[in-house]
Amino acid sequence: MRTQIIVLHRYAYSDSSWIVKALSPDVGVLSLLVKGAKSKNSQFKTGIDPLAHSEIEIRYNHHKGNSSLIIPKEAYLQNYFPKMRSNLQSLAAAQLMAEILLKLGNEKSNFAEEFKWLLNNLECLELNTVKGNSLSLWLHKLCDILGYAPTLSKCGQCGQELLQGPADLWPALGGAVCKGCLGDRKPGYDPAFLQELGNFANGKSDERQVSWLRIENFFLGHLKVHTGALDNLHSWEWLLETRRLVEC
Ligand SMILES: [Zn+2]
Repeated sequence: MRTQIIVLHRYAYSDSSWIVKALSPDVGVLSLLVKGAKSKNSQFKTGIDPLAHSEIEIRYNHHKGNSSLIIPKEAYLQNYFPKMRSNLQSLAAAQLMAEILLKLGNEKSNFAEEFKWLLNNLECLELNTVKGNSLSLWLHKLCDILGYAPTLSKCGQCGQELLQGPADLWPALGGAVCKGCLGDRKPGYDPAFLQELGNFANGKSDERQVSWLRIENFFLGHLKVHTGALDNLHSWEWLLETRRLVEC
């Protein structure tokens, strides 16, 4: 069969080969053994570079699933995203997306949506450099795809629309609670952050980088709790470092 892939990660296997982890919209995260790919004459060339969008020809066995190593016949590069690669922050954002999808693996079987949303973001990063809210939007949408998105624009208790942002977040409610339902209780979250999150939920994107960082942290934490799979995200540390580099 022929399937599209986005390369999430790869590592050396012997002197001449790569093991390539790639996301396919048809079969999820695949492990590909690409023999002889390190040689100059390999027909795979850049088609199996990290973050490349390619089409590959594989013999896929539905009974064995995608847990076994698959040896692809060929890779046809669709998009290498050269502009995205030349911008340090765009690249770091894309690397974080890839690492998260790699760590999530195939447990929830939403690969078609995950693939579409990753490809869409890589294409956006290729056209424009990364925006302040890019990663927050990506993480929020990923929560949504996985079925974990917290309710932010209405109260989980009484259903009231929250135009001013949530008064607090209650995990048991699956998200926001309104002022009335919070009553005399002290909110567990900083009111300034709740306001930022409310603005984000209502599509106002005039926040500063420091606000986006808090929102990213919130969604990352949310995904960590729900998936149990996102500890030690190396590319998150790297992304924060690239932002510091740009600031000074
Ligand atoms: Zn309420």
